[in-house]
Amino acid sequence: MTSPPALPPTAAVIGAGPAGLMAAEILSAGGASVTIYERMPSVGRKLLMAGRGGLNLTHGEPFEAFAGRYGEAADRIRPFLEAFPPTALVEWTHGLGQETFTGSSGRVFPKAMKASPLLRAWLARLAAQDVTIRTRTSWLGWDADGGLRLQADDGSEEIARPDVTILALGGASWPRLGSDGAWAGLFDDVAPFRPANAGFDVAWSDVFRERFAGAPLKPIALAFDGRSVRGEAVITRYGLEGGGVYALSPALRAAIDARGRAALEIDLRPDETAPRLTGRLAARPRKPGETASTYLRKAAHLSPAEIGLLREAHGVDLPVVAGPLARLIKCVPVILTGVQPLARAISSAGGLRFSALGDDLMLRDRSGVFAAGEMLDWEAATGGYLLQACFATGAAVGRAALRRLGLPAV
Ligand SMILES: Cc1cc2nc3c(=O)[nH]c(=O)nc-3n(C[C@H](O)[C@H](O)[C@H](O)COP(=O)(O)OP(=O)(O)OC[C@H]3O[C@@H](n4cnc5c(N)ncnc54)[C@H](O)[C@@H]3O)c2cc1C
Repeated sequence: MTSPPALPPTAAVIGAGPAGLMAAEILSAGGASVTIYERMPSVGRKLLMAGRGGLNLTHGEPFEAFAGRYGEAADRIRPFLEAFPPTALVEWTHGLGQETFTGSSGRVFPKAMKASPLLRAWLARLAAQDVTIRTRTSWLGWDADGGLRLQADDGSEEIARPDVTILALGGASWPRLGSDGAWAGLFDDVAPFRPANAGFDVAWSDVFRERFAGAPLKPIALAFDGRSVRGEAVITRYGLEGGGVYALSPALRAAIDARGRAALEIDLRPDETAPRLTGRLAARPRKPGETASTYLRKAAHLSPAEIGLLREAHGVDLPVVAGPLARLIKCVPVILTGVQPLARAISSAGGLRFSALGDDLMLRDRSGVFAAGEMLDWEAATGGYLLQACFATGAAVGRAALRRLGLPAV
């Protein structure tokens, strides 16, 4: 009599976002029997939403610059990026039949721009690797014996006892897409969630708000607390949003928390030095009968929104003398008074602290349970840094869990 073949080890992945799906792909490719549990009726909702405005997968800048984009968590994220760098993510995307391109800003997108073709191809690969996906199934925590408590939409509960578990529950922004941070109550070591990549409030005058909400400001440089970034911003009814503002958001948020305000400085002509701009304005003085707006538009090439912003900051009667005007154009103060709510932020700061995890992202107090993606305590600006870190940490926990199961590396 021959004994029946041993069943493969089992892995549960909770959360079907990019981090969880990547972990599931690696675990199943390595021979584990994988079940993904997702509370929503369908998978990857935030990934699909990210694709609405153009899915910025990663960034093509040199690795050292890239790895420095994660603020205080940069040292913790770095090994995962080294093991799964932006070039690997691009290759993986191509492997799913999705061509990519790098924009002039260095940002990398799928040619389709949307996330849906990528997600469709990815789900087909997971199905081919026999991954089971159970939607409408919420993880509630652990039972007394360390089993996973799972609840279906109809309220029925079951316990699963996989050999390894991957938690990839996401952060706390855009809760209607499934990630609401409710899991935080199950852990002791969670940094409070805060809005990241969120807009900031500005007390615009009614006239300015009505006229310019929706107008872009680009290219501009934004400075706060000794740090300056190039980028763009969009004037909104409530204030300002956009990549340039997001890049400074940890420091702006901290200042607003401490003092109730943050004085952002906007340079409307970052490609020109103040002396050069002064020279250019001096060479084209205001003509008799010319309105200040026409002069600013023609001599300084300022858009109506930029002229409006200058007036909002410096008063209606702007100087038309070259030197003082150039200085104003290169330094427009905008007072930020609040941060937009977490529910409207692109991502969240805070989450499960790295001190709760080993170097392989396994929970220190629960062996065999790993965590990945935005649920970890790191933050980064938009530019592809968010998804890259989610994919990279998802890949890392997939590989670490394979090692723990004694399965070969993939
Ligand atoms: C509007 C918008 C635009 C964005 N654009 C970009 C972009 O262009 N580039 C970029 O890099 N990033 C972008 N992001 C951010 C990016 O989408 C996220 O950082 C990323 O999706 C996080 O991946 P994740 O796998 O960690 O978590 P998520 O994608 O949030 O997935 C977590 C999953 O876990 C599930 N879940 C949570 N709790 C439970 C539970 N208890 N039981 C079962 N399931 C549970 C959730 O339903 C969810 O499906 C954007 C985000 C938004 C909102």
